Amino acid sequence: MGSTERIRNVAKRVAKWARAGHQMVVVPSAMSGETNRLLGLAKELAPARADSAYNRELDMLAATGEQASSALLAIALQAEGMESVSYAGWQVPIRTNSAYTKARIESIDDQKVRGDLAAGRVVIVTGFQGVDDAGHITTLGRGGSDTSAVAVAAAMKADECLIYTDVDGVYTTDPRVVPEARRLQTVSFEEMLEMASLGSKVLQIRSVEFAGKYKVPMRVLSSFTPWDIDINVEAKSGTLITFEEDEKMEQAVVSGIAFNRDEAKISVLGVPDKPGIAYQILGAVADANIEVDVIIQNVSKDGKTDFSFTVHRNDYARTIDLLKDKVLPALGAQEVTGDARICKVSIVGIGMRSHVGIASKMFRCLSEEGINIQMISTSEIKTSVVIDEKYMELAVRALHRVFELDQPAA
Ligand code: ASP
Ligand code: MG
Repeated sequence: MGSTERIRNVAKRVAKWARAGHQMVVVPSAMSGETNRLLGLAKELAPARADSAYNRELDMLAATGEQASSALLAIALQAEGMESVSYAGWQVPIRTNSAYTKARIESIDDQKVRGDLAAGRVVIVTGFQGVDDAGHITTLGRGGSDTSAVAVAAAMKADECLIYTDVDGVYTTDPRVVPEARRLQTVSFEEMLEMASLGSKVLQIRSVEFAGKYKVPMRVLSSFTPWDIDINVEAKSGTLITFEEDEKMEQAVVSGIAFNRDEAKISVLGVPDKPGIAYQILGAVADANIEVDVIIQNVSKDGKTDFSFTVHRNDYARTIDLLKDKVLPALGAQEVTGDARICKVSIVGIGMRSHVGIASKMFRCLSEEGINIQMISTSEIKTSVVIDEKYMELAVRALHRVFELDQPAA
């Protein structure tokens, strides 16, 4: 919702659904750019703070973006002749824990919203925010409106949660990298969860986790289609994230390719190969609250081995320092090295459960492109490789072609 014109369009679209007989709860995000603008102001005043008192104020500040857009939407709906009322998270209330800037929703009281719906009103609930037990306003992390929407849908036992966004669905991969990428009509919840955690930025991952836990069908669709398109067409547009695998009409083995440049690789070399090593290294990293992703330990030679893993790029320097200062001396390892110029490319598909040879097809494709694989990790429905970041786009394009993702599955 970038302008009042756009807000008016949203109101017309919502009115269309409501007039067709649906009870509607709308969960707006802030007007575009607003959250960045607000957080930018805080940064001007205090560039490098991350303490709890500061984070509390950031939430107090950022939550105003959604308060404004929600009130504006209610006003626009009223101008369309609809009865409508907006609520901030604390008024509903949407209860969260107290982890400012990344709070988790604990419960939603549906009483007030149900009362308004029963009285024929369209209810607007601010996205992205809630309130903790002590009454402080909290926010759910960037992109958190998705999670608010799914949580409200779960609390209301809604038929479907429609996520209107700036893309018109979930694609086989990012169309900016592969122009032939195709929109998926359906994607299973498990695939979506993998794609969101592997770097697809369409939905906040927590919203997908929430949808999974409470079995809320979610549809991702475009906010740029004209508001007056036929409601039956709109109801089938975008991508449905589904729980019933038989509903999945496109039975491709691989459904999508995810990638990200968010990680860095760290290797501890010449580690004595004996029990307790993984714990000594990764325990120290975990104690520093650093998340580890891909891990490999090599075979040992002369009683020594190499141990490698990836962390978020933002934690790279901190992890190296920690290992050098604390872990190396205690471990008797020889050296810590690292590389921040890596990327992770993953193929995802529930079809991988029932088909063999998918990972080897991926490795062959990369070898034919002359791309060296540095690390591999797999789960039931995905295979990820860590490669040099300069080959990321080449790898994604080649894999997209090899798994025929540009062709609709038969
Ligand atoms: N306004 C918040 C953000 O920009 C929440 C959202 O858009 O989902 O991150
Ligand atoms: Mg968003």
